[in-house]
Amino acid sequence: MGEIRLQFFYVNLIVVVILAYANAVTDPEIVPRSAWHARPAKQADPIISPVPYVVIHHTFNPPACNTTEECLSAMRWMQDFHQFNRTWWDIGYNFAVGGDGKVYEGRGWFTIGAHAPRYNSISMGISLIGDWTASLPPERQLAAAHKLIAMGVREGHIAEDYHLVGHRQVREGTECPGEVLYEEIKKWPHYDPHPDYVDLLKKKKGDGSKATPPDEHNRLQKGTAPFISKLL
Ligand SMILES: [Zn+2]
Repeated sequence: MGEIRLQFFYVNLIVVVILAYANAVTDPEIVPRSAWHARPAKQADPIISPVPYVVIHHTFNPPACNTTEECLSAMRWMQDFHQFNRTWWDIGYNFAVGGDGKVYEGRGWFTIGAHAPRYNSISMGISLIGDWTASLPPERQLAAAHKLIAMGVREGHIAEDYHLVGHRQVREGTECPGEVLYEEIKKWPHYDPHPDYVDLLKKKKGDGSKATPPDEHNRLQKGTAPFISKLL
């Protein structure tokens, strides 16, 4: 009896080790805030997990980062821009994915982002650093985004039956995440085709939709030149 139990224990142990190894190889490398010298958030609201949505963005600016050094500085640039120009509490995204294949921690898994009005408290905002209007991010950047989402589901931050959308689908007047990346995410698991405000606007101009409340999470890009705002 004791021997059987012992065998059972070893089999379980092997399974646990294999699973831990599998997770270790499938999880993306996450670069913590401290590594990019993030300033503390001015304020932070906890998010209720698991969230039902994943919203994909591109940063448009700064442009693509191909080395870790460039990605670290892109993160600092974005935090400056979001905290000072936009007067948000912190960098807007929950995570940003670099062209170096690493994931950079923004607000992280536990905090409400400022990236998609009306969807901030029910989504993870994941931005692929760069302008993906006319070209596709490198394969390792796309792979890291997939790994991050899988990790979020496995760890209970993202609902198993989540909906994946591009920013333009949940916010009028933006082309984010860029035309080429948007076409790409249409092929991703859990992509939800509804709605697409860019398409809707093309069909129905000036539909006088309701203004969003001007709180930290919902503030639109006030003061940003319209042509820039349209792309973020
Ligand atoms: Zn966006």
